[in-house]
Amino acid sequence: MKFYSTNNKNNLVSFKEAVLSGIANDGGLYMPVEIPKLPSVFINSIDKISLKEISFNIAKQFFGQELNDEALLDIINSTITFDAPLVPLNDELNILELFHGPTLAFKDFGAKFMANVMSYLNKDLDKEIKILAATSGDTGSAVANGFYKVKGIKVVLLYPSKKVSKIQEQQLTTLGENITALEVKGTFDDCQRLVKQAFLDKELTKHCTLSSANSINVARLLPQSFYYFYAYSQIKDKNLPLIISVPSGNFGNLTAGLFAMEMGLPVHKFIAATNANDVFPKYLETSVFEVKPSVKTLSNAMDVGNPSNFARILNLNNHDYNLIKQKIFSSSFSDEQTKDAIKEIKSKYNYIIDPHGAVGYLAMKKFLDENNYKKLNGVILETAHPAKFADIVESVLKEKVEIPERLKSCLTKKKISIEISKDYLDFKNFILSS
Ligand SMILES: *Cc1c(COP(=O)(O)O)cnc(C)c1O
Repeated sequence: MKFYSTNNKNNLVSFKEAVLSGIANDGGLYMPVEIPKLPSVFINSIDKISLKEISFNIAKQFFGQELNDEALLDIINSTITFDAPLVPLNDELNILELFHGPTLAFKDFGAKFMANVMSYLNKDLDKEIKILAATSGDTGSAVANGFYKVKGIKVVLLYPSKKVSKIQEQQLTTLGENITALEVKGTFDDCQRLVKQAFLDKELTKHCTLSSANSINVARLLPQSFYYFYAYSQIKDKNLPLIISVPSGNFGNLTAGLFAMEMGLPVHKFIAATNANDVFPKYLETSVFEVKPSVKTLSNAMDVGNPSNFARILNLNNHDYNLIKQKIFSSSFSDEQTKDAIKEIKSKYNYIIDPHGAVGYLAMKKFLDENNYKKLNGVILETAHPAKFADIVESVLKEKVEIPERLKSCLTKKKISIEISKDYLDFKNFILSS
């Protein structure tokens, strides 16, 4: 299947180019030329098959021409190594736990899949690919884990010194092998600037093949549709309207849900849950999309003032504002409300949720308050494990959050990072000599 740019439908590239370049040369985001409809027999019997089988079938629709069954099966088997269970809070509301992967966040699905695809696409070339990734914390660890020990690929992570949490720093700096962590004496913006400059540096790009692991990469986006189908498979027998709340920042997760809907997932409504960064709910309210500088909140992985996947949401809906409004409800919530929700979910349902999932819960509740449903299948995506945000959750609940073994083990490992200045020449010399 070919991919086109959201800025120009005639700007077509191969799957390989879309994956290896990440973003179109006209600045647009790649979209598949066609969104395949899954056969109704598949949807009707989806509760009989596993997450791996669901994932294989969906991936085959998009990538089946470029990747044969054997390669695709390999990629799925090494990506889907953890479950995404649906945990009921009550008869109506369920939590889809997307944090059972290596870095305890939903980004593990997309990052691991993309890493395996890139490695496959690169297998005939003898050239090593260097992935440069600037991170403010969470994305870097999912990317690093995704590419960990993947042949033919080296990852250089740049993170701002002393500006990520202790847990995040441990996740970034303790892998070793093909992952190098650069501790930049500067801000996240400095890290991003260094990476951008490197991609434009002809001398450097002649010396080695550089690539990015950006969240807008189609190979990171599309696998996120797998678990929407899997959630449905776990409650299909109830045959009730499916309403899905997605804690959103860059809107990649929600966009993958919209893809699932186009493919035939019977979704009644999507809910885009946001924190104080409310560009999208404001858009639904006023029809004007006005980007803003991001503000810092407790659900910091959603602190985005210019959600990059908005271009894809427009494109998927023919730029039809009313159609978007019909499919998606959206609302924004404060940090105070988020803390109250964490408390409420614990006391009402005895469930410990993280700040991002708590925003998802609040938006679901608001939607149900404003709309009368006798019965429904409500699904709230829990995008991170509460232990990743233990400081917040523990101070709200006044109790300890249990830390999963895979996080605990990285906390005791030795941190290995290379300190560099925010000066581009230092960074360039590092890349040239490594
Ligand atoms: C990245 C992230 C989000 C936001 O996802 P988008 O696809 O950018 O909307 C939400 N929660 C957590 C925990 C994240 O890491």
